[in-house]
Amino acid sequence: MDNIRNARPLEEGLWTVADGGLSLLGHRCASCGEVFFPRRKCSHCAHCFRRTLEEIYLGPKGKIASFSVVMIAPAGDFYRGPVPYAYGCVDLPEGIRIKGLLARDYLDILAVAMEVRLSTEVLYVSDEEIPVEAFVFKPLKENRKDEQ
Ligand SMILES: [Zn+2]
Repeated sequence: MDNIRNARPLEEGLWTVADGGLSLLGHRCASCGEVFFPRRKCSHCAHCFRRTLEEIYLGPKGKIASFSVVMIAPAGDFYRGPVPYAYGCVDLPEGIRIKGLLARDYLDILAVAMEVRLSTEVLYVSDEEIPVEAFVFKPLKENRKDEQ
């Protein structure tokens, strides 16, 4: 019996592997240019209300706009990952600022304006023993202190 199972995403439909790389899935309005992440669940633009949304890939690179390092697990059951962890806002080249986790192996070197790239990390293992992944942003390699 094979006990190895593939990881599943924390939430479906946030990212994909396309053209050999990881990308977030967003919408851009063809009428007004507004960009959305995650994708809109309804078919119209929240800015101009036209039904001209097109699916686009976002990232994989971005820049940290702000972040916090969280030292104690939040109350409730919505976060089951390890602590401490970092959560922040990342500006993407497509002109949108999104919220997300920052890779936990780099908490000591994170900085505002640091260039990052999209990745995934296992956040926890479910009760059914399936690894649950989330998208995260990790520093570009040239930002590592120990590699300079
Ligand atoms: Zn629009």
